[in-house]
Amino acid sequence: MGADFGRGWPWRGPASLTRGLNVQTDQLKDVMVAAVTRAGYLCEGVRKTLLPESARTKDDRSPVTVADLGAQAVVRRALSESFADVPVLGEEDASMLEDSAFAKIVGEAVTLGGVSMDLGALRRALAPDEGAATAPRRFVLDPIDGTKGYLRGDQYAVALALLEGDQVVAGVLGCPALGPGDAGIVAWASRGGGTWQAPLLTDDRSWGQVAVTGTTDASALRLVESVESGHSSHDHAAQVKQALGIVADPVRIDSQCKYAVVARGDAEVYLRLPTRPGYREKVWDHAAGYICVAEAGGRITDARGAPLDFSQGAHLDNNRGVIATHGPLHDRVLEAVAAALSSD
Ligand code: AMP
Ligand code: MG
Repeated sequence: MGADFGRGWPWRGPASLTRGLNVQTDQLKDVMVAAVTRAGYLCEGVRKTLLPESARTKDDRSPVTVADLGAQAVVRRALSESFADVPVLGEEDASMLEDSAFAKIVGEAVTLGGVSMDLGALRRALAPDEGAATAPRRFVLDPIDGTKGYLRGDQYAVALALLEGDQVVAGVLGCPALGPGDAGIVAWASRGGGTWQAPLLTDDRSWGQVAVTGTTDASALRLVESVESGHSSHDHAAQVKQALGIVADPVRIDSQCKYAVVARGDAEVYLRLPTRPGYREKVWDHAAGYICVAEAGGRITDARGAPLDFSQGAHLDNNRGVIATHGPLHDRVLEAVAAALSSD
């Protein structure tokens, strides 16, 4: 792993982005992308060498691996070096470290992200940041979004966003298994600065701006949805496809890679259609992907057409489901979604 995580960045964003942070926007980008890059190396390294003994099941019965914890610890440490005053709201916490066999492998895992942390350092890095969910300025982190995809050998994402109040102001998606090429990709977006993509796991990083497509033919829309039918209703998506006369079947991809795919024009519509009434969407499952699609020219609402409300702490409690599109046919997609959701 090289020490240079992507210098030569050509873009200078609006100064307002970093007001009060005492850094330039390009430094914010450097730090956030470098943190996610470290996590990407860690996750891929664990997947290649440590996986079988590294998975556990959380109390909510969702899977967690040493890479989830290791990646969160590495990202938080990297952020704290430059932004000590900005709290981090992360998906994971230190409770799994009580399992000493697991904690030992987390310690090995973080070395794959280029840092060395003993148990105390890991506990500190994974201790919840008090008040992070409601802090006026906060980082939001999903160290491995799509853990099921990660364990299956499919797609996953390291998702990091910076929020101010109810606004997402910057976001990074590290997608270590997403092509083209075998280095994965990293997407970076910031308010007013567009969305950019580069290879992730490489020392030779060159960035290119990405944008959504301009497709206006509904039958040609390309849909993406979760692999897991428990996370998004495949049946309702099939109804949306039929109602709009879409030719191609939805492509199933784990994690916020779906947002990256729409942002760069490889699909037009990401459907996340509620599967059960009480589910509360998590802010870390959407914030980074949201700004990547928004800055690429797309539109994002919930399944009822309401804007995503990032002011509600850790959850999107004023929203149900998520629809992210390239824009022009968003309202037509919403109509088809409404019809599908009211059909049962
Ligand atoms: P995906 O890879 O798009 O299927 O999304 C993975 C995320 O789905 C995980 O990070 C979970 O937080 C989230 N998730 C878990 N259960 C549900 C559910 N019932 N509905 C929507 N999302 C869920
Ligand atoms: Mg997630």
